[in-house]
Amino acid sequence: LSRYHTDFHEIEQIGYGNFSRVFKVLKRIDGCMYAVKHSIRQLHQDTEKRQALMEVQALAALGSHANIVNYYTSWFENEHLYIQMELCDCSLSIKESSPFFSEGEVLEIMYQIAQALQYIHERGIAHLDVKPDNIYVKNGIYKLGDFGCATLIDRSLPIEEGDARYMPQEILNDKYEHLEKVDIFSLGVAIYELVRRSPLPESGPPFLNLREGKIPLLPGHSLQFQNLLKVMLDPDPVRRPSAKELLENPIFDRARKISRTK
Ligand code: ATP
Ligand code: MG
Ligand code: MG
Repeated sequence: LSRYHTDFHEIEQIGYGNFSRVFKVLKRIDGCMYAVKHSIRQLHQDTEKRQALMEVQALAALGSHANIVNYYTSWFENEHLYIQMELCDCSLSIKESSPFFSEGEVLEIMYQIAQALQYIHERGIAHLDVKPDNIYVKNGIYKLGDFGCATLIDRSLPIEEGDARYMPQEILNDKYEHLEKVDIFSLGVAIYELVRRSPLPESGPPFLNLREGKIPLLPGHSLQFQNLLKVMLDPDPVRRPSAKELLENPIFDRARKISRTK
């Protein structure tokens, strides 16, 4: 008997990754909609299982936060891992039809995701796959999701690396110190991409330049905003601000006010 089919009515597929498919489902017992992610391949080996379980263990250990995609439960069925989570409206993946975000809106996204990062970093976890695709929106709130690459910050072992386009040089050099600063760099690249409104190529400029700390000018954006991106993208992880330091920047005064009235 399948727990998935007993407990849920499948509505439609809403996404897929390299190893997983995600469905919008109705939970029969409570009548609410959720997202259920399942691994495409059967997880036979313990090493495969352990990697897949990092995602649920990180989500479960973190508990709930307004700016993190909420986790409910997980289980194995025929050697497939199922994860029940909060259903979001969409993610910020960059497409031809991507919406235009004003600087104020971009700062709002940055502010909310930095709060998620501060929260997980304080709990010793680094996300390591921060990118527009993994930033979800639900009722106008931005949420960090897809903890498939998450790891413990003080673990100095090789990790499941996220999308290379968002990774700083130190990770490409196999240096696993200051893993929380990797998330700050990736958020900087993600924000740059949102502003630029076209997907970053796999190699070459402008993203090579970003990694070298050369930020192309962003016409129409304040100097304060561009300087903030520049420090987030500093090639030296020690010089990049922590999420907490980032949030103290006066540039977020307006975002702070909005969030207090919510
Ligand atoms: P893989 O790790 O196998 O490469 P992935 O980690 O990219 O897959 P996710 O990012 O978790 O998988 O999900 C894939 C897609 O499914 C997302 O890009 C998004 O479109 C959709 N999706 C995932 N979770 C949710 C959710 N909670 N609410 C709405 N849509 C979701
Ligand atoms: Mg993803
Ligand atoms: Mg993933």
